[in-house]
Amino acid sequence: MTQQEAASPSSTLYRGGFVYSPVDPFATAMVVQDGKIAWVGSDEAATGHADSVDEVVELDGSLVTPAFVDGHVHSSMTGQGLDGVDLSQTSSLTEALRLIETAARHGRGRPLYAHSWDETNWPEGRPATSEELDRATFGGVVYMPRVDAHSACVTTALATSARAQGLDGWGGTGVVVREAHHAVRDMFYAGITPADRRHYIDLSMRAAAEAGIGLVHEMAAPHIGAPEDLADVVAAGERGDGPQVVPYWGELVDGEARARELARAYGVRGLAGDLCADGSIGSRTAHVRSPYLDGADPDNCGYGYLNVDTVRDHVAACTLAGLQAGFHVIGDAALDTITEGFRAAAELVGADRVRAARHRLEHIEMVDEAAIATLVELGIYASVQPVFEAWWGGKDGMYGARLGASRSLASNPYGSMAAAGVALVLGSDTPVTPFGPWEAIRACVNHHEPSQRISARSAFLAHTRGGWRAAGIDDRGYLDLGQPETFAVWSVGDLVVQAPDDRIQTWSTDPRSGTPGLPDLSEDADLPVNLRTVVRGRTVFDREGAFD
Ligand SMILES: [Zn+2]
Repeated sequence: MTQQEAASPSSTLYRGGFVYSPVDPFATAMVVQDGKIAWVGSDEAATGHADSVDEVVELDGSLVTPAFVDGHVHSSMTGQGLDGVDLSQTSSLTEALRLIETAARHGRGRPLYAHSWDETNWPEGRPATSEELDRATFGGVVYMPRVDAHSACVTTALATSARAQGLDGWGGTGVVVREAHHAVRDMFYAGITPADRRHYIDLSMRAAAEAGIGLVHEMAAPHIGAPEDLADVVAAGERGDGPQVVPYWGELVDGEARARELARAYGVRGLAGDLCADGSIGSRTAHVRSPYLDGADPDNCGYGYLNVDTVRDHVAACTLAGLQAGFHVIGDAALDTITEGFRAAAELVGADRVRAARHRLEHIEMVDEAAIATLVELGIYASVQPVFEAWWGGKDGMYGARLGASRSLASNPYGSMAAAGVALVLGSDTPVTPFGPWEAIRACVNHHEPSQRISARSAFLAHTRGGWRAAGIDDRGYLDLGQPETFAVWSVGDLVVQAPDDRIQTWSTDPRSGTPGLPDLSEDADLPVNLRTVVRGRTVFDREGAFD
């Protein structure tokens, strides 16, 4: 990154590229002035602006898009992950233990955060035991959450100090879920200083800016971090040197007064996000109607944390307080509880008011027609993470192993939801999957189940305007006159237009289609590389050498 602190010129002409704008599908140039988009058009027409602006940037064939919105983010955990031991690329438990041992030697007894492992990628096919971790770290403190963050391995030292042994969810070998997991996580996080945390938040914001993201929805919750953590994320967003932040707090309420009190105390847009109705498929804790097909217990259907009455009361309270309500919900059984609770709330306070509050559901991976009908009827947004589907979906992936091929292929039904009129917002749930807007769009376009694919254009809109709308803001997230100067510049190959209404990919480079082109997102194509991110007129990321 270069010259991040340099003051931006007050007017700039970008020309010689492609500008993704609803005003002009053939736009190749854009003028920004005093933090706003002042003009969008063709290079020929831009000649008239070249003399009157302070700076001219040659795009050299790159693509300008509105900056993306990541609809589900955990900033300090993300930054902590960037700072800790990343196990996501390990191909065996042995390799993971070796990385942990190396880090423990360097850390000299400091608590160690080793994250994002997935035993389904390992020939051992199982998590680490306390004994193995104790040996690797010479008896140190290790918190080792699984990639989905709903279970973890811990050392004896951490389990003992958190008094996890004997709690619900203590597995005996050092793997913890539910209450035991929450206890060790709380204990581990209690050892992190506010300065550490603010450093993590900065790392995360920088990574978001580098990924071309201009707004993140921060999904804070009592079981994830303290209110001070959320306050630091909000403050980072307000500083103006990175992405903007829309904050949520996932705490259950049973009355309007309490809803208002919490929203006021934390300055949040809603009591939504990771208010958990269940766990995850990876940890076999998502609440499903019929049992998981693998795992030790043949009757295991996961676990539902909420009931219809608590959902109803929360939704009604938030609705009356003019706040967004929402839940983390993954399994079909959990979604049954949620949709029934929403319908009960609508009976209580009126469907119109429920719709107006624009509630949202996170992840929402196992959705049938009846649930889709409720989402449409009550105007509930679906906040989805398409890279989950790309990584774990399909017949032979982790969802296939846990749920069987048919439930796996039916998961994350973006096509059915979009066709029925469910508003989608895309996100990463980082650190579960990293910031990566084009990866998410590519996952939508290449869904394992062809009938559930959506067009690149729809996915792109869900990742830009959709993200603003899901936060209750209707007129942001596109490049048009008077809009804030919030955009990203991408180095791309040929731009293509996807044939309309074709779920099997057909691409066209025909410019006469009248639709702005997008990068080729077929599975073997190189994804765009971000060159610059600008948020409200300020350059928050510049790739070294990109515009020299
Ligand atoms: Zn989350």
